Amino acid sequence: MKPKYLFDKRYIAWNTLQIKLLNLNRPIFIFLDYDGTIVPIQEKPKQAILPESTKLLLDSLAHHPNAYVGIVSGRSMKDIRRMVKLTSLFYIANHGYEIYSRKIKWSHPIVTDIVPILKKLRTNFEKSLKAIHGVLIENKIITLSIHYRQLSGTPVSTLKKIIKSKMQEYSRCLKISSGKKVFEIKPRINWNKGKAIFKLIELFNVTAKPLIVYIGDDRTDEDAFRLLPKEAFTIYVGSNFSSKAKYLLNHPNEVILFLKKLNHSLVLRKEM
Ligand SMILES: [Mg+2]
Repeated sequence: MKPKYLFDKRYIAWNTLQIKLLNLNRPIFIFLDYDGTIVPIQEKPKQAILPESTKLLLDSLAHHPNAYVGIVSGRSMKDIRRMVKLTSLFYIANHGYEIYSRKIKWSHPIVTDIVPILKKLRTNFEKSLKAIHGVLIENKIITLSIHYRQLSGTPVSTLKKIIKSKMQEYSRCLKISSGKKVFEIKPRINWNKGKAIFKLIELFNVTAKPLIVYIGDDRTDEDAFRLLPKEAFTIYVGSNFSSKAKYLLNHPNEVILFLKKLNHSLVLRKEM
């Protein structure tokens, strides 16, 4: 089924969620991807700065009783925490391999084995991709991103071929996937953003079954859309109508509008 536009003319989808929110007597978990979801994608990852007003909004959401709000990103933990800088939020970084909040610090057990291997591979890439213009190698310790948004003079297929050939030696323990103008090199295990969400909920040790809201724009968010329970409120950002999310928003601006409405509903719930 195609995702439905969340702000349809008669606000049917939104009203359904609002009724649920106003009567909610269990925890709510709000998961937000970062790039392309709460901030528009930029040429360089460091240019995707979160506006102060969005920070205030996220902080306000996270302070409602029984509300847990956090970011689920492919960025490294250090990077995503530096971009958001809110201690009231939780963070799932590196495509799910790391979880952090004021009370929780967790990383996937595979991390110990994979770090030295990735270090070797990174050095190797730094040499072999040096001559290719517009490639940015991002060291995320547990994963490795090769950004090519500014690639010029070399076809993407050639770049991919070089990367694959260098990875051959490590193919038993590493895999490659594509994102938006980026190749991601990750441990070859069955782990993703979706699985990390369940891990996080387990770590928070909530007693009642939570209502989940998940918003994301990337291919890696599809794992979460696929794995989350039916009643979860999944929202895809963009124009890919084959997304497994239930709902769709066009742009990060609409995500912010949605979060404002969500915040307002939680205020009303508190006052009831
Ligand atoms: Mg994204």
